Amino acid sequence: MVKAVVGANWGDEGKGKITDMLAREADIVIRFQGGANAGHTIVNNYGKFALHTLPSGVFYNHTTSIIGNGVALNIPILMEEIKSITDRNVPMPKILVSDRAQIVMPYHILFDQYEEERLGGKSFGSTKSGIAPFYSDKYAKIGFQVSELFDEELLKEKIESVVAQKNVILEHLYHKPAIEPSELLETLHTYRDVIKPFVCDVSVYLDEALKAGKNILLEGQLGTLKDPDHGIYPMVTSSSTLAAYGAIGAGIPPYEIKGIYTVCKAYSSSVGAGAFVSEIFGEEADELRRRGGDGGEYGATTGRPRRMGWFDCVASKYGCRLQGTTDVCFTVLDVLGYLDEIPVCTGYEIDGEVTTQFPVTAKLAKAKPVFTTLPGWKSDIRGIRNYEELPENCRRYVEFIEEQIGYPITLVSNGPARDDIIYRKSTLNK
Ligand code: GDP
Repeated sequence: MVKAVVGANWGDEGKGKITDMLAREADIVIRFQGGANAGHTIVNNYGKFALHTLPSGVFYNHTTSIIGNGVALNIPILMEEIKSITDRNVPMPKILVSDRAQIVMPYHILFDQYEEERLGGKSFGSTKSGIAPFYSDKYAKIGFQVSELFDEELLKEKIESVVAQKNVILEHLYHKPAIEPSELLETLHTYRDVIKPFVCDVSVYLDEALKAGKNILLEGQLGTLKDPDHGIYPMVTSSSTLAAYGAIGAGIPPYEIKGIYTVCKAYSSSVGAGAFVSEIFGEEADELRRRGGDGGEYGATTGRPRRMGWFDCVASKYGCRLQGTTDVCFTVLDVLGYLDEIPVCTGYEIDGEVTTQFPVTAKLAKAKPVFTTLPGWKSDIRGIRNYEELPENCRRYVEFIEEQIGYPITLVSNGPARDDIIYRKSTLNK
């Protein structure tokens, strides 16, 4: 049985917590896309952790954590991350890395920085982790697969050819120092030696696991609106954030994915540039940012303050639809307990017409939010475990949003810890 945990919006919806929670019953947790450019925050009995590359199953003894072929694998960061958790008394997790995963090269990170510098004010707000140059090279067919580290002849030849091309750009476009092929080869030898114990033919491993009836969890990074095809292009990430891509980025048949848990936060936040229709500013935004998440809404990887906004039903309905949602996990609801009234974006006005369908980027720039205001519940809902015990206005908020987005909210998260969760029977027909 395969389940996916994915985001409906711009990321930072609380996927890490939901994955960590669902991982209790999973034998295998797999990252299938993205790289170390975003992170999950997880709070458990070992403490509070920010993971960037490792799957959120690493805190359990019974799970195998896999870096799938779809991931942008930054080997030094993976190694640091393993050390950072084992240094804090987490037992060494069982980790496998796909032999088909491609490697983030030192020059990908440099190219990311140089390109942002070149674009100046017109930049994409990249986290400069090398993700866009990495995926460009992957699809230009000049990337390096993990398996290639173990073929010395091929590696040498390929380095010569790739470096020749990179150096032209470095010299003539960016006016930066050239790459020395022998140095790069040495770096790749160190990568080879540290990654060797983890390398695995992951699709075979998963095929056997499926036949043995194991529970597999696919862990997504970011959310629908950052998908390169269905998101707010070009302010998107470079790999698909959709559950459907889980099949490709892990190497399993698409029909095996039976549960798609789409995580939606009870308000909105976004990092980086791009349209954000329900965005709020000033003191109203500062207060939500300060109170948001677990200790404020600041990027887990970058520390950047997140842009804040009210819940956006148009974006979330779209986000859930493109994921193929079976269950919505509605998170961080506890944070809204301070508000007298809570605006919810229920439509976009574009050229004088109101729509509830999420438009293409050019139209999105013209969209103005249409808000419906709901009464707040003015109380602390942390610690509540039964849906019926939530204040009436809080339930109204959940049910109003469920009705608007059209997908069943079956999990409500009311705190950062594993057990801060309310299971709910949806009133929508599945
Ligand atoms: P991800 O990238 O989707 O995993 O999201 P983040 O790592 O940015 O998670 C959002 C933050 O919210 C983290 O600091 C979590 O610990 C925290 N969090 C998750 N669920 C809840 C919740 O229900 N309530 C509160 N207060 N915090 C939560």
